[in-house]
Order: sequence, then structure tokens, then C-alpha cells
Amino acid sequence: MRATRLMLSLSLLAGGPYLHAADVDSHAFLQAHLPAQRAPRPDDARRVRDLLARMTPREKIGQMTQLTIAAVAAGKDAELRLDPVKLERALVEYGVGSLLNVSDTAMPVAWWHATLRQVQATAARTRLQIPVVYGIDTIHGANYVAGATLFPQPLGMAATWNPDLMLQGSRVAAAETRAAGLPWNFSPVLDVGRQPLWPRLYETFGEDPYLATVMGVATVRGYEGADPAAATQVGSCLKHYVGYSAPTTGHDRTPALIPEALLREYYLPPFAAAVRAGALSVMVNSGEVNGIPGHVNGFLLKDVLRGELGFDGVVVSDWEDIKKLVGIHRAAATEKEATRLAVMAGIDMSMVPNDLSFADLLNELVQEGAVPMARIDEAVGRILTMKLRLGLFDDGLRGLAAGTQVGAPEARRLALEAAREALVLLENRQATLPLAAGTRLLVSGPTSDSLPALNNGWTLTWQGDRPELYPSDRLTVLGALRKRFGAAQVTHVPGADFERELDVAGAVAAARQADAIVLCLGEGSYAETPGNIDDLSLPEAQLRLAEALLATGKPVVLVLVEGRPRLIRRLAERVSAIVLALNPGHEGGQAIADVLAGDVNPSGRLPITYPRHPNALRTYDHKAFEEQDTSFGLKAYQPQFDFGAGLSYTTFAYDGLNVTPRRLSRAARLEVAVSVRNTGARAGAEVVQVYVSDHAASVTPPVKRLRRFAKVWLAPGESREVRFSLAPDELSFIGPDSRPRLEPGAFSVSVGGLKQEFELLP
Ligand code: BGC
Repeated sequence: MRATRLMLSLSLLAGGPYLHAADVDSHAFLQAHLPAQRAPRPDDARRVRDLLARMTPREKIGQMTQLTIAAVAAGKDAELRLDPVKLERALVEYGVGSLLNVSDTAMPVAWWHATLRQVQATAARTRLQIPVVYGIDTIHGANYVAGATLFPQPLGMAATWNPDLMLQGSRVAAAETRAAGLPWNFSPVLDVGRQPLWPRLYETFGEDPYLATVMGVATVRGYEGADPAAATQVGSCLKHYVGYSAPTTGHDRTPALIPEALLREYYLPPFAAAVRAGALSVMVNSGEVNGIPGHVNGFLLKDVLRGELGFDGVVVSDWEDIKKLVGIHRAAATEKEATRLAVMAGIDMSMVPNDLSFADLLNELVQEGAVPMARIDEAVGRILTMKLRLGLFDDGLRGLAAGTQVGAPEARRLALEAAREALVLLENRQATLPLAAGTRLLVSGPTSDSLPALNNGWTLTWQGDRPELYPSDRLTVLGALRKRFGAAQVTHVPGADFERELDVAGAVAAARQADAIVLCLGEGSYAETPGNIDDLSLPEAQLRLAEALLATGKPVVLVLVEGRPRLIRRLAERVSAIVLALNPGHEGGQAIADVLAGDVNPSGRLPITYPRHPNALRTYDHKAFEEQDTSFGLKAYQPQFDFGAGLSYTTFAYDGLNVTPRRLSRAARLEVAVSVRNTGARAGAEVVQVYVSDHAASVTPPVKRLRRFAKVWLAPGESREVRFSLAPDELSFIGPDSRPRLEPGAFSVSVGGLKQEFELLP
């Protein structure tokens, strides 16, 4: 696989088109990357013990304190500069062990270097010279380092169903982050995205725990590599542990109700696997599950995370979340009580992040005996161990001299490859796509000429909404179509803003002169709570623009640039083609033009269920009776598009599904083989998806669960036999007692429209 990838990279370097990549099998990938082969470092424990023995309580508590850079700086945006007096107070007087963030704007590498030099030089003046660990949100590439390579957002990366690409992209993100001198990355988001309204859906790997597990492991291995101390790697932070992604209302940071069995079945597995992959840290859920805020949930933070998953790294709070236990959650009457509850529940480091209250209050609590020194030593020991594993004691500025070129051409080509693979062709009536050369196009809609929409939040700023900061040499959809089809062939009339109709009549008039309409709808950029919505429908202004354009009778190619599946029921049956772009990043405009023109054959598949109705937001792994039509009305599950769906410019046929043995004992393995053939005229990639269904169980079973997948590249006429092997315990589910259960009986395996039954023996 490596050899093929190398050839691929070489062809990309040579500027060649992206034609073929190596097959990727989800299970083989996990086996190759789990468990991490990290050499034991016996010295670390000794060094940590030695330091702890020499530290004062105040110095220890300083290590547990994390401040945002704005708290030790003056100015804002590009004018941000460290304030030596504030920095001295925090680092030297208080012994603050960690800093994070920017003041909204991505900063140039040279600024990061100067800033981190000043930070570590100040830390070097402390009694024990413990280096500071700086944390940053590198969410889709090093988005806070100016000029960095930006990939599709994680939901788009999940749509590639290509963990190898995820691994390589994460390596680039790590190297470009570390090149700025930043060793600790608050990523990946492993919250399983099962609430489509949630404004952070695009930060997730979608609704399925297995796909999220495979992509999550790929990300952690890409970030940390064999040795996270290396000058091209960073430490990862699994977030937001756990259950953050399922708020009942869909609003960010609002309550979730998740029975423990379902938490274990759907939300915990990606975290468990990423812990096994060696992740150095975990960030806590800002919200609450079943009435207990994440930051005081000792059961989840200690019993489950430490006891069951065996996590030995650092647990960091999320932004201001200890304070929010008082004002927002009302889980504590005072900040001091909140601090005690959170530290005793298992928070090792507080992202305070604006002041030194945490350190002051925790000092008081320790002096009063309300927090035992043993708990402080445990937390600080983990923090120091992470600093050792990141190599900071050897060189607090590691990465600065690595010679990594931020935004190198080959990294950008990888991002382009990722953007292409992330595009999902959901509809293509009468082979409308690809568009023939010479087609006169009207390009319309609010996402047609917007880099912020292609990227979404966490792009150069938190909200990603400052177009003036975006590079001028990246193409929007419009720019890329003009380049590909010729400016004279492409007319642009936006027609509508995200929420407002603009020149709809002008768009309609222009459509009459065109052969086809590329209508780019969707969302602008947003991150976290500012992205809350109450209605998943595409805004009315955009629907009206679409309906007016459809009324011209010209073929409409709908391109959806969005972070979550905005409902398109009114349009879906009437448009000629639909390309779901999600947020493909800086290279997305180019990638979309490549697919529309047919230079690239799309291979993305949905990592979520695309809903049809606002109150039927079900996932693919719903219950059987939700699919049954009753004589009284609608069945609950009738999505616009299914999880895993996606078309190609070629066709694939499956044949010869063979599941053995048909009577499976618990000591054996289930072997699945199937042949897939490219039956069309173009090379293309198919994602072979293996689903298992339990026919009857003591907890009503979901209709199916994804258990394996493989992405295979096939030339016209080529066929491949793909084999998978499953252990019987992968057929288990979590019972009402919150423990795994394996129940004998009938099951079936379905792949590519074929199905075969087998029996699990008692
Ligand atoms: C987000 C985290 C992020 C942190 C630091 C919080 O608001 O929830 O995901 O890592 O800010 O920027």
C-alpha cells in the first residue's frame, strides 16, 4: 500500500491527475495502527517523581492551570503581543503550566516562533524551569497558523471513507502545527454525530461509531506518530468526552439524555480505540448527560475512562467550564465548590482560561484539606509526563528548526486529493454530470463564491467568517468553474444570500441564456454555539431561488456546501444532480469543478443519514419497526439519502457474497467474501460496506450496523474479491445492565445489495 501511495504522491508532485490510489481496508488499517508501538520510557516516571518531590503545592497547582494567550497579552487579532508583566505574573509567580489559543486570528509562523521563544524563556526563569505546553485547535489542518494547508473538515474526511488519507492529512496537520512550535492539538473530535442540528456536526466523523473509530485512530496516529516528541508530531486531545454531540434540542452545550447502555454502544467506542492508539490527552464534555455535567462526572472520568479504558494521560477541562458549573449548570453554588467537585471528579488541568481564580481557589482547597495532595500529585504527574512525552523538557521549542514548509505544494495536493474524495454525488439524473465542455453555465447561490462557506469555522479565525484573511489564490466554486469552462461560458448571479433573496429575477434571466445551472446552496461559516439553529430546513430564501431557477426548465446541478444536512425535500426530486460538498476546505472549489467537469470521478459516501423531514431525524441504525409502514401513516425512517450512499460516474456490481461458516461457534471467526466489479467505462472507487443485522435480541436490535468497509479502486471491467473477517464478539451489543451481551441466533450480513444469513451457536 505504501508503495502505491508513494507512486501516487510522485504522480501528484509531477502535477499528474489523480487516477488511482491503493485499496484501504478498515480492519487491516486498525490492525496496522493498533495498539501503538510506543517504546516504554522508564526514565519518565523517575523524572516525574523527582520533580514532584521538589515542587511546592503552589507550583503544582500552577501546572494544572491553563490560560488563554489573551490573558497574558495585549492587543488583538494580528496586533496581539505578549505582555511581559502579565506573562511574568502568570508563569513565574503562579507557575502556570499551559497556554492556549490565539486572539481570534491565525498568526504567521514567525510570530509563533517569537511568541513561543518568549514564553519558554519566561518559563526558564522559574525555579524548576518546567516548560509550558501550548495547546491549539488544529481542526482541519493548522488553521491558526497563517498559510497552513487546510483539509476538508472532519465530516468531509469521513465522507472519503479513506483512513489512509486521514492518516496522511493528519501528519501534514501535525507537522505544520509543530513547525510553528505548537506541540499539543485539541483534536480529534470523537463525538459521534447523531444529532444533525448540532452546530459541531461538521467537526465529527459522522453518525457511525465504527467509521468514527477508524477515522479517529487514523487521526491520532497521524498526529502522534511513533514518537510525539518528534519535531513533526503533536500530542492529540480526544474530545469532548463524552456524550456532547447529542443535545436534545440540537443547540450546542445543552442537555443530553443518553442511557448508559447507549452511551457505551454508540458514543464511547471511538474514545476507547483512540485511547488504545496512545492519545496523550482528553478534553471534557461542556454539556451535561442525564443531568450530570461532564466536568463533575466522576463515574465517566474515573471509573470508565481510567478504570475501563485504561487512559493514563491528561484530562483537560473545556473553555471556562469549571466556572460554568456555577453560572450555567448550577451544579455548584460557588466557584470554589465547583473547583473542588471538578478536580475530585478527575479534571487534571483547568482551561480557566481568562484569570487565575482556579489556582487561587485550588490553593485554598488544598490548604484546607478539601482536596488531598495525592490528587494534586496525580494530576501534575500526568501533566509532567505529557510534557516529557512531547519532548518539551529536552527542547521546549521543538519543531521550530524542523524545516517543515508550512503550506508546501505537495501538502496542498494532498488536501486537493482529500477534497475530491470527500465529495458525494447523491443524484445524477439522465447523466447530467459530468458537464460537457462548451456548456454555458449560470453559477448561482450564496455558497457559489465563498471561501468561508467552503471551509466553515476554525478557519483563520474561530468562526471562519473573515473573508479578507483568506488567501487570494484559492478558488471558490465560481472561480474554479470559470477556469475550467472559460470565463466567457460562465455567468454569475448570486440570486440570494443565506437568509435573504437578492436578485432572483436576475438569476432567472441569466438562466434562460444558459445550458445548465450550477446552484450552490447551504450554509455560511460558524463554530460552536453561534451556529445554533432551530430549523434544519434550508432557509426559505435559498429554496425560493432554487424553485425560481427550476421553473426555467434548465437542468439544475445542486451543490450543497454545508456543515450539516440542511433539508432539501422541496428540491431533491426536481433537480438534475446533487453534489454534497460539505466543507471541503481551501481546495474545495477546485475539487468541485473537477467533479462537475468529469476530470475526477467522485467516490465519497455519506457519513451521516441525510434526513428528509424536520422531525424524523433518525440514524441508519434505527429499529426495524421504524421502517414499517402502518396503515395509519408515515413510517419514521424515510431519509432523503441513506448513510453510506454515493454515486460514481461508473457503475459497480456485486457478486458471490459468501459468508462462512453458516453455523458460527463462539470460538471461530466469521469470514465474509464478496466480489465487486467496475461495470462501467471509467475507473472509479467503490466503498464496500459490510453491515451485520441481528434478527432478534433481548434488547430490540437496530436494523443493521456497519462492521467493516474497504475502499477499492477499479479500472473499467476490473473486479476484485474483498475479504473480511469478524470475531463473534463483534456481534455483541450492550445490554440493559450496561455490559456487552452476545446472544445466539440468526444474523445476516449485507454487502452491496447482497445478503446472506448465518447462525451464531450458543
Ligand atoms: C471548544 C473546544 C476547544 C476549546 C479551545 C472550546 O470552546 O469547545 O473544542 O478545544 O474551546 O479553543
